[in-house]
Amino acid sequence: MTLSTYFMEATYLVASILFVFALKGMSHPETARRGMFLAEGGMLAAILGTLIGAHIVTWVWIIAGLSIGSIIGAWMAIWVPMTAMPQRTALSHAFGALAAALVGVGEFLVHAGEMHPVTRTALGFEVMLGALTTTGSLIAAGKLQGVIHGKPVQFKGQNVVNALIFLVMTTCFFIFIAHPEKTAVFYIMLGLAFVFGVMLVIPIGSADMPVVMSLLNSYAGLAAAATGFVLGNNVLIIAGTLDGFSGFILSVLMCKAMNRSITNVLFGGFGAVIAEATTDAGGVMREISLDDAAMQLAFASRVIFVPGYGLATAQAQHAVRELAELLEERGVTVKYAIHPVAGRMPGHMNVLLAEANVPYSSLYEMEQINPEFPTTDVAVVIGANDVVNPDARDNPKSLIAGMPILEVDRAKSVIVLKRGQGRGFSGLENPLFFKSCTSMLYGDAKSSLTHLAQAVQHV
Ligand code: NAP
Repeated sequence: MTLSTYFMEATYLVASILFVFALKGMSHPETARRGMFLAEGGMLAAILGTLIGAHIVTWVWIIAGLSIGSIIGAWMAIWVPMTAMPQRTALSHAFGALAAALVGVGEFLVHAGEMHPVTRTALGFEVMLGALTTTGSLIAAGKLQGVIHGKPVQFKGQNVVNALIFLVMTTCFFIFIAHPEKTAVFYIMLGLAFVFGVMLVIPIGSADMPVVMSLLNSYAGLAAAATGFVLGNNVLIIAGTLDGFSGFILSVLMCKAMNRSITNVLFGGFGAVIAEATTDAGGVMREISLDDAAMQLAFASRVIFVPGYGLATAQAQHAVRELAELLEERGVTVKYAIHPVAGRMPGHMNVLLAEANVPYSSLYEMEQINPEFPTTDVAVVIGANDVVNPDARDNPKSLIAGMPILEVDRAKSVIVLKRGQGRGFSGLENPLFFKSCTSMLYGDAKSSLTHLAQAVQHV
């Protein structure tokens, strides 16, 4: 081993350790930023180690790739809004997976014949997982962005078609391991994997897309780990495995928070039968004036803010913090209730509120805060809908039956901030809005909160 190879292996070790600590950091909102920095440090160490230690054939492609990638990455980081983060992440998965698939094709063209069958198996996995994750993630991004219709696409015999594709693809995979000289088989496997990615994601509605994305993230990670086996690159094996399993654990946690099984998410076609399962909540929604709402808040002793997706679209995180501070100055106890799947990605609300410097000690998880609603004077629902839908608890026929909710309807009074009669992402009606304890303050969340803060100052 040369000195530069020793250096490369040392940086890989450092990078792997940093990745593990990064994941540990990211498991808690208070340490998440540090976790991200550690992960960035790890990635930088791995890249530097590779550039210094590996045999570089030509720098031209590396510099071109680095420049184009950096420009696109910076553009995305600066301009893509927080609300579009899920589709942005889906695009990252697509390109990461495409890179893994292309490396696999490159290795196949150059070395497949002389590879050990075990390495060839890893190569097959890399190409299959990479290709299906690429198209699957692109469809997911399209659905989330609204470029492709978000409704589940289902047809008769869909599962049979999918099973057939899967069967032919895996048969090609096994033939490839035994006969690497049969190039056509390799390319059929590659093509079918691209098709399978599309077929896997089209039957899933956009409401379930974040779970699917985190599964695809897991596949992309496993594809990277397989790439590591093919190239004999330890840091890829470790980082890919960490990515693969953390993605899978996240999917399971999200399903748990929605009381769904992974099978139900993948094959349930959630969103296709919404019309049948929607309750006719009946009654009327009672509107409240800004001054009355401000009065209620100013004279309350305990207030809980419940943010949801609407807070993110309105970018109302600073406005809610300002209102909360004004109320606290008046002696009101203010807390924030965080549902695990509020918004469009895990931790969405935590990220937004942390950005607005809301102290982490004021944020309460669902299990902690639910018992407090009955003794709360006012629960202020800010652009949340599905996560406060009492049908999930009370109506066994509801599509979201069993999904744990924030039980705001148990508070003495509920004020809902939303623009109009729009439904949540599940498309279901919400009986909360028709309850006698609930009043609606219509308008964009940011503007409503800003005006509420002004009105509270004059009470
Ligand atoms: P939601 O159910 O999607 O409801 C959002 C509400 O915000 C809408 O009813 C909308 O009503 C209102 N709104 C939109 N823009 C607004 C604005 N500018 N100002 C005020 N209100 C606004 O949101 P949620 O309660 O946060 O629930 C999240 C949903 O995503 C759940 O169904 C969850 O299962 C799903 N999901 C989330 C994740 C995750 O990781 N977070 C993962 C998988 C699925 P108007 O149009 O009337 O304003």
